[in-house]
Amino acid sequence: MIEFFPPDLFKADREALLEIVRTIGTGPEQRFILGGATARLERELAAELGAADVIACSSGTSALTLILHAMGVGPGDEAVVPAYGCAPLAAAVVNLGATPVFADIDPWTLVVDPSDVEACITERTKVLLPAHIYSVMADMPRLLKIAERYDVRLVEDSAVAQGAVLDGRPAGLWGEAGLYSFVQVKSFGTAGEGGAVVTNDRELARDIRMLRNHGQDGRHRFLHHMIGHNSRFDEIQATFLLHRLPGFPDRLERRARIADYYAQRFSALAEHGVLAPPTGRNGRCYYVYTLMTERRDALRDHLARHGIASHVYYPSPLPLQPAFASYAPPGRRWPHAERASRCTLSIPVHPLLTDAQAERIADVVCAFAVGDRGTAVAGGE
Ligand SMILES: *Cc1c(COP(=O)(O)O)cnc(C)c1O
Repeated sequence: MIEFFPPDLFKADREALLEIVRTIGTGPEQRFILGGATARLERELAAELGAADVIACSSGTSALTLILHAMGVGPGDEAVVPAYGCAPLAAAVVNLGATPVFADIDPWTLVVDPSDVEACITERTKVLLPAHIYSVMADMPRLLKIAERYDVRLVEDSAVAQGAVLDGRPAGLWGEAGLYSFVQVKSFGTAGEGGAVVTNDRELARDIRMLRNHGQDGRHRFLHHMIGHNSRFDEIQATFLLHRLPGFPDRLERRARIADYYAQRFSALAEHGVLAPPTGRNGRCYYVYTLMTERRDALRDHLARHGIASHVYYPSPLPLQPAFASYAPPGRRWPHAERASRCTLSIPVHPLLTDAQAERIADVVCAFAVGDRGTAVAGGE
């Protein structure tokens, strides 16, 4: 069986993880949150990115919430979010009392369509919130221009795009603030939960640091400058991430190479009704590798029969989810998001895949696609 997320992801780091737990668990300081390791992780990430500040926090969702809160997003405000993506994009907005406005996506890159984002802007729009959710980053240059033209704020959900670079600028630094998720399955995942805000705006960073710990400034305990959250970061996770940081570029490169290999194997499949994502390295983050086909469920079953796990991200557009239906204007459709929810299938691209496994996955996908043509011709479709 080829798993979608490998259960042995941290196998090589197990001894290190146990040693970290032992060291911090028995350390004389008994410091478990917001200590020296968290500060070092923040400094190292900021230095690597060339960012003014990085603020580690409890999750990617929390990072997004802290950013929107620090920007004053609240009741009466609208945030333009992708109609296709993960729940936190809309939930973080709703939980602050603001209204998500859903923009449709590009039919191939599957990230938010800047033209539809622009069409969604009203006088109540406070923030544009694009997300990089598949292997192609959102069109940040165009979105940046739109944000400037309409004088609205730009937040970049780069939760899955850590390490990606578009036109020389890292994912996370295109908006006024961006975020990463360290949850286990993400590209820079840890053995648990975590996230970070990245920004070049020092004032915003200062407020986010306070909001992370109930509005305190880190110097005066029990002096609350603002009403905040508990989004503090764990020292064991920080130390484990520092341990994993030097290997991160190689793991990203491994993902990209597998994607390059798939791209080469799948380039001829479009005429057989299986569309691979755009190729290349600029603005790419191979957190998942996602195919599109009208026969998605059949491909998923075919892969499963051959012992290959796959995932449907996501089976429904956000505004068609029961939770967000009340934010879907009556009669509004998101044709590309609706089609993507029927047609996308993500196949394994994790860095522990062997060449032989990648080859086998490609063989099975190609056999399905080419076999599909035979059926279609025979069936007169
Ligand atoms: C995973 C993810 C999040 C949330 O991160 P968590 O750490 O799981 O809270 C937000 N946005 C996107 C695009 C994600 O993929």
